[in-house]
Amino acid sequence: MDANALNDVSGTMHDSYGRRLNYLRVSLTDACNLRCVYCMPEDIRFRPAAALLQDDEILTLIRVAASLGVDKVRLTGGEPTVRHGVVDLVREIVAIPGIARVVMTTNGVKLAEQAEALAAAGLAQANISLDSLDPAKFRRITRRGDLADVWRGIAAAEAAELLPIKLNCVVTRGFNDDEVVELARLSLANPWEIRFIELMPFGSVADFQQDQVVSSAETRRRIETALGPLEAVPGHNGHDPARPYRLPGARGRLGFISSVSEPFCEGCNRLRLTADGRLRLCLLRDDEADLLTPLRAGADFATLRRLMAEAAFRKPWGHRLEQHDIAKSREMSQIGG
Ligand code: SAM
Ligand code: SF4
Repeated sequence: MDANALNDVSGTMHDSYGRRLNYLRVSLTDACNLRCVYCMPEDIRFRPAAALLQDDEILTLIRVAASLGVDKVRLTGGEPTVRHGVVDLVREIVAIPGIARVVMTTNGVKLAEQAEALAAAGLAQANISLDSLDPAKFRRITRRGDLADVWRGIAAAEAAELLPIKLNCVVTRGFNDDEVVELARLSLANPWEIRFIELMPFGSVADFQQDQVVSSAETRRRIETALGPLEAVPGHNGHDPARPYRLPGARGRLGFISSVSEPFCEGCNRLRLTADGRLRLCLLRDDEADLLTPLRAGADFATLRRLMAEAAFRKPWGHRLEQHDIAKSREMSQIGG
């Protein structure tokens, strides 16, 4: 069966491996108010606004995706909260028929001022990046951030019930690998999921990243040595890259995202829309389909739908890092993780 038949008959998208694709991650901007060492070079230049999808273009492409069975959207960046009009955009995405859940990944810096409005607009949940508990280390990693802003953001997200709160920590050797035990301890008293992410080599900072990778196995060993054996939490959703564990007696959980050492391709149900309108088929591979050009050339809904379905069908399987094949066409911040 070809891609069109497979995808159009059912109103759902599948790739050539039979994976159903119902989750779209949308990068709202490549710009950011931080400059994390593992994500982008310090002197990065962001794309001009005209090169990025406008609100109506984002809404059209999400409607197309929804017509192909996408029901979950995660807004990301760069930093999604720096996009002008993000609250109104959330409200309009939530209203798209078929979209059941809209969530966000954010560095949390602006959440103190935005969480309540985002929740009122229909945002359901937030993943918030938190790489260190030490203000000086946090600044070294982010090159400019103030940790107190993130704590205020986390409190605001909880108050606004953007639940469950998930805190993303990219473990980076020499920057925060000595803090994983303290970060894991946060799950004892708080109903949060602390997620330890393996550093992925990417874009122009790939050489730095490769030297700084800490495997999930090493992070886990460190935590267990200090705090005792972790219990696997039953009922793991196979589409969630974070395998869930619990410290004995903890209110919250820990998760380990091992995209490099243990890729979770069989459970992958996601596609990514970059801020410049490309459908990115896999985070760690450079395969993309340009949807911005046909959209701006006046392609109708049916044509966009066919282009999206055909591209989705070509979604690859597996990264090629062992072959030293590193995705270099973009920085992580231009895709959104
Ligand atoms: N600015 C938002 C944030 O930091 O949460 C959203 C975009 S950011 C690119 C999404 C996630 O990717 C964050 O949790 C970030 O820590 C993670 N990330 C960035 N660069 C990474 C890398 N090289 N390897 C692994 N994760 C990375
Ligand atoms: Fe910005 Fe997020 Fe990248 Fe840090 S990880 S520089 S907060 S986009």
